[in-house]
Amino acid sequence: MAKIKKIAVFTSGGDAPGMNAAVRAVVRTALAHKLDVMGINRGYQGMIEDDFVKMKSKSVRNIIQRGGTILRTARSEEFRTPEGRKKAFDNLKKHKIDAVVVIGGDGSFKGAGIFSQEYDIPFVGMPGTIDNDMFGTDYTIGFDTALNTVVEAIDKIKDTAFSHDRTFFIEVMGRDAGFIALKAGIATGAEMVLIPEVEGQEKQLEELLQSSEKSSNIIIVAEGNNIGGAHEVAKNFGKKYKDHGVRVNVLGHMQRGGSPSAFDRFLASRLGVAAVDAIIDNQRSIMVGYKNHEIVHVPFNKTIKGKRDIGEELLRVNDILAK
Ligand code: ATP
Repeated sequence: MAKIKKIAVFTSGGDAPGMNAAVRAVVRTALAHKLDVMGINRGYQGMIEDDFVKMKSKSVRNIIQRGGTILRTARSEEFRTPEGRKKAFDNLKKHKIDAVVVIGGDGSFKGAGIFSQEYDIPFVGMPGTIDNDMFGTDYTIGFDTALNTVVEAIDKIKDTAFSHDRTFFIEVMGRDAGFIALKAGIATGAEMVLIPEVEGQEKQLEELLQSSEKSSNIIIVAEGNNIGGAHEVAKNFGKKYKDHGVRVNVLGHMQRGGSPSAFDRFLASRLGVAAVDAIIDNQRSIMVGYKNHEIVHVPFNKTIKGKRDIGEELLRVNDILAK
C-alpha cells in the first residue's frame, strides 16, 4: 500500500460542539507524524467546489473551547450524484490527498463508504452529532454538551413550572432517537419523556395528567416521538386538562451551540489521535468510536446499518424515578 503523505479533514452534516476539538486533534496528530494536512471547508460541497485550505499547527490554536466548526459544515445534494463525486475526487487528486478524515453522522459515513468504493481513497470517520444515535460508539462528539445545555434550560423552566403549578411540554432534538430526551429526563427529574423508541405513550400521558391536576409537570418531548411535536401534544391534551395551565417550550438550535463540555473535548481529542493512527495503519472505511472507555474501530457499514439501542436499564431507571 502507498505510503500516506498528505491527508484532508472536514466536518459534515449537522454541527456539533467538539467538532473543533476534533479538527484540532486530527491536524496536530498528522503534523506530529510529519504528514501534510488540509482542511476542506463546508463538507462534501467544499470538496466538490475545491474549497481546500492548508492547515498548520497555528490554524487550530485557540479553537478547542469553541462550539460550531471553523471548517463550517454543509449538506451536499451534489455529492449524492456520481458527477458530484467525480468532481470531489478530481479535487482530492489535484491536492495529492492520500486519505481523508470525515467528522459527522451516519449520513456522512454513508457518503464516504460509497465514494471510497468508487475511488481508491481511504476514509476514516469520527462520530460527530449531538443525537448520540450512532451504532458502535457509546458517545458521539457533541452529545454530552447538548445534554448539559438541555438540562440547564429545563432546570430554569422547572422553577416557573413549580411556582405556577403548570405543565410544560419541552421539545428537544432527536428525530430518530430519544437519548437526549431520556437522559435529560433522568437528570432533571422530569415527570415523563416521550421518545421514538417507546410506543403507546398516550395512555401513560393521560394517566399522568389525570393524577396530577394543580401540580407542576415537566414532559420532555423528543422530536421523533410517536404522539407528535410539543405544540401538537400540548394542544390536544391542553384542551382536556385546562387546569394544568399547559405551556410549550421548543428548545431548538440552542441545543447545538456553545462551548463543548470537558467530556466532549476529551472525547474529540482521543478520537482525533486514533483516527490519524488508523490512517497511518492503512485502515479504511472505519469509524473510530468509544466503547467501555476504550477506543474501537467499527466498519462504516455497521455504523450505517446498526441501530443503537436506547437501553432497557435506562428506561427502567426513568420509569422507577419519574413518579
Ligand atoms: P447528522 O446526524 O448531524 O444529520 P449526518 O452526517 O447524518 O449528520 P446527513 O445530512 O445525513 O448528515 O449527511 C451528510 C452528507 O453526507 C449529505 O449532505 C450528503 O452530501 C452525504 N451523503 C449522505 N448520504 C449519502 C449517500 N447515500 N450518497 C452520497 N452522499 C451521501
